Amino acid sequence: MSNLTFGIIKPDAVKKGVQGSIIQRILNNGFKIRGMKLIHQTRKQAEGFYEVHRGKPFYDELTEFMSSGPCVVLALEKENAVPEWRKLMGATNPAEADEGTLRKEFASSIGENAVHGSDSDENAAIEIAYFFSKLELV
Ligand code: ADP
Ligand code: MG
Repeated sequence: MSNLTFGIIKPDAVKKGVQGSIIQRILNNGFKIRGMKLIHQTRKQAEGFYEVHRGKPFYDELTEFMSSGPCVVLALEKENAVPEWRKLMGATNPAEADEGTLRKEFASSIGENAVHGSDSDENAAIEIAYFFSKLELV
């Protein structure tokens, strides 16, 4: 298990102005923020990031949404970072997310679900490298 994962505070959450609350929850849950920046992805960048989902029925909606406004990208450190961050995020569909999770509290729908998290150590490394240079990680 690696101690690093990658997260995004998605455009819906930034639009609602809850990015500060989400960052506080991340810190309260014992994560260290190793990298953080506000970006506005182009459609092409969002398509590249979600390449694994190309061909799925929600791919166009997802990449349009992810490029619709600013988001906060995060490199997060904690023991067992990948499952720990997914646990704090909650289920993809907020209707199925547990009480106390970020998606339960902040997500609007299965598509606009407030946060992203890597699903494996391997993808965490790929996703951190997609958005951060080494100099941007402390
Ligand atoms: P997760 O983000 O929990 O890892 P997935 O990797 O399965 O979930 O999907 C990536 C993202 O695509 C989701 O977070 C959500 O924004 C969007 N998505 C997934 N399934 C659907 C769906 N059925 N309809 C609309 N958007 C979806
Ligand atoms: Mg996923």
